[in-house]
Amino acid sequence: MTDKKTDVIVLGAGIVGVSAAYAARQRGLSVVLVDRREPGSETSYGNAGILSSGSITPLNNPALWTALPKYLTNRHAALRWNPAWVVQNPAWVARFLTETAVSRLRPRATALHGLIGASLKLHREWIVQAGAAHRIRETGWLKAWRGDSVASAKREQALLTEYGIESRLLDRQDISALEPSIVPVYKVGLLHTQTASVDSPGNVVKAYAKMLAGEGGEIRQSEIKSIVPAEGGWRVVLDDATLIARHVVVALGPWSPDILRPLGYRVPLAFERGYHREFKPNPARSLQRPIHDADGSFLMTPMEQGIRVTSGVELTDRDAPSSFAQIDAVAPMAREVVEFGEQVGDTWRGSRPTLPDSLPMIGPAPRHAGLWLAFGNQHIGFTTGPGTGAAIAAMIKGLPPPYDVTAFAPSRYI
Ligand SMILES: Cc1cc2nc3c(=O)[nH]c(=O)nc-3n(C[C@H](O)[C@H](O)[C@H](O)COP(=O)(O)OP(=O)(O)OC[C@H]3O[C@@H](n4cnc5c(N)ncnc54)[C@H](O)[C@@H]3O)c2cc1C
Repeated sequence: MTDKKTDVIVLGAGIVGVSAAYAARQRGLSVVLVDRREPGSETSYGNAGILSSGSITPLNNPALWTALPKYLTNRHAALRWNPAWVVQNPAWVARFLTETAVSRLRPRATALHGLIGASLKLHREWIVQAGAAHRIRETGWLKAWRGDSVASAKREQALLTEYGIESRLLDRQDISALEPSIVPVYKVGLLHTQTASVDSPGNVVKAYAKMLAGEGGEIRQSEIKSIVPAEGGWRVVLDDATLIARHVVVALGPWSPDILRPLGYRVPLAFERGYHREFKPNPARSLQRPIHDADGSFLMTPMEQGIRVTSGVELTDRDAPSSFAQIDAVAPMAREVVEFGEQVGDTWRGSRPTLPDSLPMIGPAPRHAGLWLAFGNQHIGFTTGPGTGAAIAAMIKGLPPPYDVTAFAPSRYI
């Protein structure tokens, strides 16, 4: 039992929690960061490592309706869905689909653009300060189509251009010049030139956590049991201690709703699960950057350990047993593109935490002073962790966040 009162306790040491803790420490607050695992061991470990400048279009955009017939077959690599989950969560599905309205595209793109811009700036500063600059590659991100998809690529490029995000349209020859090791299966490419990537997202989070510890932040490895309002703040009950703080930040990624339910908050968070498999690289056939195979619905990223292939979305319960159908389907397609060796390690599974409007919650809990919510960063949480954390730290200090957070207000859902 400890009765030392900390300014801020951050729950969860994924990219979002580590970022919130570091940003709060930078603002002079005393900080304890708690996770049952080492920092960066869950969703922030297994992602594709892309620091994406251009992911401003949420999955539930107007084009979803064109793709829906093929998704309804429940055999597509981009999206598998559990019918039982859909039946049990009709409100989430209805709200998610409502957000595909044309009128909802630009407001959300604008909000995400602000969050992404602030986040990339911080990632580029922090990764140097954390001594992990060797992990970042400023080689962009290539989205590539096997079919004749110039029109789709141009449509995407037009929206990026509207927001001042640079990209280059490529043909087969341009793609071969950029990625000489791949088989020329792609006819069209869109290179996101301002996007970066890292060779180990988990180790980047660990480096940021080490930087936090170096600045006097405390990191505890404990199971978080509950949070309880207390005189002038919060009591955080762990499996091995109870901590007290003026402010608590919930950054538990896909697990965030669990801790909030006893306080009366029912958060409509869904889990867009995804898988990765890593393969030994062939040093003579290396990738220069992550490639998104748009027709195959998978991503390949060169990582420290090898080539990481990540799958599309599986919409089901967070803790339902794994189904390897999607990753089984796409891994051989990746092998058609670039030569690589045998699998390294086990297949990994994680959950992209997604609210119906595909925007995170960043801000105060509506009915409890000193309780801050920072989760729901969907497909781009590794990118947007630092901006999410920086905004929370600013708000705790009563200062304006570095970008407009209005669209991310938790009160829109709870
Ligand atoms: C296949 C896949 C590919 C992706 N690719 C990208 C990408 O290329 N770029 C990108 O920007 N994003 C990507 N994402 C999304 C990104 O990984 C997530 O949005 C992001 O990692 C979420 O971070 P987080 O800090 O919110 O959650 P997490 O990293 O999951 O952190 C939550 C932490 O809470 C802890 N925790 C939970 N409950 C408790 C408890 N009771 N007690 C103690 N600790 C607890 C967990 O141990 C965990 O460490 C991808 C996701 C997936 C699944």
